Amino acid sequence: MLQMAEHWVSTTAGRHLAGRVKESTGPEVTLRRALHACGLRFRLHRTLARGCTPDLVLPRYRVAVFVDGCFWHGCPEHGRRAPWTGPNSQLWADKMSRNRERDERSTTLAQECGWAVVRIWEHEVTGDVEAAVARVRAAGAGGSTPR
Ligand SMILES: [Zn+2]
Repeated sequence: MLQMAEHWVSTTAGRHLAGRVKESTGPEVTLRRALHACGLRFRLHRTLARGCTPDLVLPRYRVAVFVDGCFWHGCPEHGRRAPWTGPNSQLWADKMSRNRERDERSTTLAQECGWAVVRIWEHEVTGDVEAAVARVRAAGAGGSTPR
């Protein structure tokens, strides 16, 4: 990633983050296992609309679930609050605000297609996966708020 993007300057601070954006992440897998253990059936990465591919969907309940990494999606507890510094500061700020906009847009798109949307922070899964499962269930039962 750092090599491909011409305008990014490689920094020691950013190196460990390279290439981590699109993989199936640990928390997502943890959540899948917990849902499966509860007998909930889901499908992965189904595109609901252009620009809207939740991490998983539960077709029977018409629930769409996004698992958001605390760093990339700017979680209020673990996301970066300090202004970006260094040669890439503006690029980082732009990237993070694009991520936020994309999240909001994909939530709206899924809702417009009639899906109940649950966005789950990475730390919710790692901290208390049962509570995260409960949120998915609640959305399936009609009591849904994205966060
Ligand atoms: Zn967090």
